[in-house]
Amino acid sequence: MSTDSNHTNSRRQFLRQAGLTAATAAIAGPAIALPMSASPTQNDDQRKVGFAIVGLGKYAQEQMMPAFKESKHAKITALVSGSPEKMQKLAKEYSVDAKNCYSYQNFDSIKDNPAVDVVYVVLPPGMHAEYVVRAAQAGKHVLTEKPMANTVAECQRMIDACRKAGKKLMVAYRAQFEPFNLEAIDRIKKGELGKLRYVTSDHGRQVKPTEDKADEWRVVKKLAGGGSLMDIGIYSLNAARYLTGEEPVEVMAMESTDHSDPRFKEVEDQIHFTLRFPSGVLATCTSAYSIETVKRFRAFGEKAFLDLDPATDYYEHNMTIGKADGEMKPSIKEGNQFAAELDHMAECVLENKTPKTPGEEGLRDIKLIMAIYESARKGKPVKV
Ligand code: NAD
Repeated sequence: MSTDSNHTNSRRQFLRQAGLTAATAAIAGPAIALPMSASPTQNDDQRKVGFAIVGLGKYAQEQMMPAFKESKHAKITALVSGSPEKMQKLAKEYSVDAKNCYSYQNFDSIKDNPAVDVVYVVLPPGMHAEYVVRAAQAGKHVLTEKPMANTVAECQRMIDACRKAGKKLMVAYRAQFEPFNLEAIDRIKKGELGKLRYVTSDHGRQVKPTEDKADEWRVVKKLAGGGSLMDIGIYSLNAARYLTGEEPVEVMAMESTDHSDPRFKEVEDQIHFTLRFPSGVLATCTSAYSIETVKRFRAFGEKAFLDLDPATDYYEHNMTIGKADGEMKPSIKEGNQFAAELDHMAECVLENKTPKTPGEEGLRDIKLIMAIYESARKGKPVKV
């Protein structure tokens, strides 16, 4: 298509003008700060990084694809799906040319498509490793959904493949791009709570595989890797790490699952775990698939607490700071965390920066999740 090749040429031209060819942009390394306005003659769309969306399910359609409209540096240039009808409808809606629509079978030919810079994998976790590795082998940067993969070995394989290809790998931890979470991290770091003593975090909901198609794979171990912990308990875990700014040295966990419930034949329902951090801070976290929705955390310091409830929702976060003289609610502007996440990935490509949430960040959580499962199984603490 002529418009596409024109687009590609002008995009290459932009990268050249910015002092960064597509090839050098691909090489991982120290940050090179390039002004985004490096090419004032190009229009905004031509400056955008092209994303291929792999897996056109609920999260992709309802949250991430609409967020591209609010993104400054990312645009959808290709789709990958097993359903031609669904893909056709979405291609029309997002103005994706038919020649940029792929099946899972011909996905590897994306290597010949210069309109695609980044492959965004939004498939069930058990499929992440395969598509991340194939994307890297096709010479594309990769953004993959959380949890990164089912096993530590798969995470390592994904990291190795991207490193070998000289491509970026980012795990889509949207909360780390969300303004209320960033404000919480900042306030704790600046000492507003006094010395941090402990954190609690709860993530739960009702998993409904018979009512919601998107929950079908969530109760199948091969596709989900595990139960509530892999899917939503990971938010409790990741929050405990980014709020403390430390890495746990020990975990202790208990699981409670009613295996006679048809939802929990293969995966766990509740798992509660405590993390011990080197400073002495403890984090007590919960994860459940059989309760009314909760997505919150609270950090307790010697002088004050900081509560975010909801903390990791899509919109409408709510922060409360409690001190001896009462409670206050800081005024924080809501922001589009999905667009911020996409823009970060795009900037990493354009400016040759390492993502804030690289493959190693996803791997750390999966290693800890495995230690949490081990502790629950053995009924004793596990050093990590
Ligand atoms: P979904 O079931 O709606 O989407 C999964 C997509 O994968 C569907 O389009 C489905 O057709 C496709 N697929 C291809 N092969 C499949 C197979 N063998 N079995 C099942 N599906 C198959 O699920 P979702 O809720 O959109 O989740 C997709 C990914 O996004 C998961 O990794 C999930 O953890 C992640 N997610 C992240 C967030 C977040 O807030 N960051 C929220 C929801 C989901």
